[in-house]
Amino acid sequence: MKKRITTVVAIFLAVTVTYQWGRLAELSSVLTLVGEANAKETSEERKYRDHYYPGTEQLAPDEMRVIALGTGMPNARMSQAGSCWLVELGNDDKFFFDLGTGCMEKFSVMGIPYGAANKVFLSHLHSDHYGGFQSWWMGGLVAGRRVGVEVWGPSGATPELGTKYAIDKTIEALNWDITSRSGRLPSTPLETKVHEFDYKAINAVVYEQNGVTVRTVPAIHAIDGPVSFILEWNGLKFVFSGDTTPNKWLMKYGKEADIFIHEVFFTVDDLQNRFGWSLGASIQINLLVHTAPPAFGKVMAEVKPRMGVAYHFFNDFDTGAAIQDEIRKIYDGPITLAKDMMVWNVTPDTVKAREIAFSENSWPVEEPGPDPMVKFPNDFGKIRRQKWVELVADDTGTTVQKTQQAITDQLMCGAGNGVAYSPRIRHSAGNGPVTVRWSHPSGYAPNQRG
Ligand SMILES: [Zn+2]
Ligand SMILES: [Zn+2]
Repeated sequence: MKKRITTVVAIFLAVTVTYQWGRLAELSSVLTLVGEANAKETSEERKYRDHYYPGTEQLAPDEMRVIALGTGMPNARMSQAGSCWLVELGNDDKFFFDLGTGCMEKFSVMGIPYGAANKVFLSHLHSDHYGGFQSWWMGGLVAGRRVGVEVWGPSGATPELGTKYAIDKTIEALNWDITSRSGRLPSTPLETKVHEFDYKAINAVVYEQNGVTVRTVPAIHAIDGPVSFILEWNGLKFVFSGDTTPNKWLMKYGKEADIFIHEVFFTVDDLQNRFGWSLGASIQINLLVHTAPPAFGKVMAEVKPRMGVAYHFFNDFDTGAAIQDEIRKIYDGPITLAKDMMVWNVTPDTVKAREIAFSENSWPVEEPGPDPMVKFPNDFGKIRRQKWVELVADDTGTTVQKTQQAITDQLMCGAGNGVAYSPRIRHSAGNGPVTVRWSHPSGYAPNQRG
């Protein structure tokens, strides 16, 4: 009897101790989780609002912000501009990767001065990757950009297929625009440095400044010339494919990227049904020119980025799901199907993807640095100095003749003599008929008004 009681008590004690031990272990693991959560809240992990409001969040010294200003294709559409990615770093550096058609409208809402974002890396010279260059270059000038710009881009099979040729000719084509503004444009913002590098270079450094390194590898797309880029800074790695079929160099040198932006194209079904392409053409473009969704999954599985970003397709309610399904057959890691006006904050601890809240009616913001017009008050283009405009008569019938130099002198000094001239040579006095005859040095009279 005594023995039986002892046994029962012993079993009871053993069960109780075991139960409480389990409770304690459970409790301690709960406490550990709470402790970790508190530690994260109070140390590295940043809190982000649901949306990013441009200009409202200062980057931490170890933080990278990637903004999708263009995620689309050569076909213009409201919702998606051509390829354009703005990378902002905690050291205040800002870089564009590509300047696709329509991207500057998106940039305008960011509240960033053009002069603070004056460096671009071009992956190739298709218009959906470079067609926004004019808006960036000339639009920046008009907005008051006070510094020059720099462009990095690949060579081509011949000099005429390289980046330098494209940029030089584009600026040449802006001759009328530049000339018409001469006198209002100092020389510094007109400076454009083109750094053309060998498109065949493999993992070659094309940029190294301020702790930032940018490397290039060849991309396989259309004809010779396209490249992909790898930016590294402060232990963070940003990779941008441009346009390419999956290629071994990007998979090798892009490994373990913190953010890996890679193109993806439509499913073969959508290429046939939505675009009306033949089965053969649909397969061919996905294999030889762009990256099919399952191939995108395979690239991600090889590279294992902290965040994979897919772009270069119309990201609609009835296209994205099918693309994602095909990717998910191969790869289950973190990915974003990009849309314009998305942002990714990248730190050593977090990669946070969000949408951007913005106004469509943004105005240009003030440019940093001293106004070069003060520095170069008389830096006028030669054509301005020529006597090519005659103001024949004002409303009082008095013949007024002034050389262009006299007019510009008057404008610069702000000393009117009772007759109002604007830089566009409008005569604003009185109600009577005003005859303005334009005479160009070439003898060509482009306009007559009465
Ligand atoms: Zn392309
Ligand atoms: Zn493209």
